[in-house]
Amino acid sequence: MPLSLPRWSLLLLLCLLACDALATETERARRPKVKTSKLVRLPGGERLHRDAALAYQRMAQAAETDGVRLRVTSGYRSPREQRWLYEQYRKGKGNKAARPGRSNHQRGLAVDLIVGPATSQRFEWLAANACRFGFRRTVRSEPWHWEYSPRTTLPPLAGEDCLGRPVEREAPPVVENAPS
Ligand SMILES: [Zn+2]
Repeated sequence: MPLSLPRWSLLLLLCLLACDALATETERARRPKVKTSKLVRLPGGERLHRDAALAYQRMAQAAETDGVRLRVTSGYRSPREQRWLYEQYRKGKGNKAARPGRSNHQRGLAVDLIVGPATSQRFEWLAANACRFGFRRTVRSEPWHWEYSPRTTLPPLAGEDCLGRPVEREAPPVVENAPS
């Protein structure tokens, strides 16, 4: 049975709406997710949103004090870089990468760090301390991927680390009385 005119019109309208949604999605994927004026370069060369960069540098400093050196292998990614990584992943040639437009790397809020396995000293340090600086893990299968998300990252309770373990405090320094 041939479709009546109102049905054709409805079909056409649905088609147009779908095309429009698809175009918007593509456009969204192409647009940078952060103004480049808000990006700052870390000592290693990678860029991050300035808020994330500041928090990251404070975190790296604290890690250094504890004898752990952090290194960023990937920070901000342009739409083009994210698309390339996503294509590599789809071809089975690279690490898992989010669809262009869906990654917080494109907002300059995600960092990939050299951590090694989840039993490494670096990972251990991050797991115990990153929440104090607003960083948290968001992808279970990627121990190297950390995101700056201060609004959704709870700081540890007093006297505990990010894993809820008691923090060993150093004994307060002994103050000797000055000779009178
Ligand atoms: Zn990542």
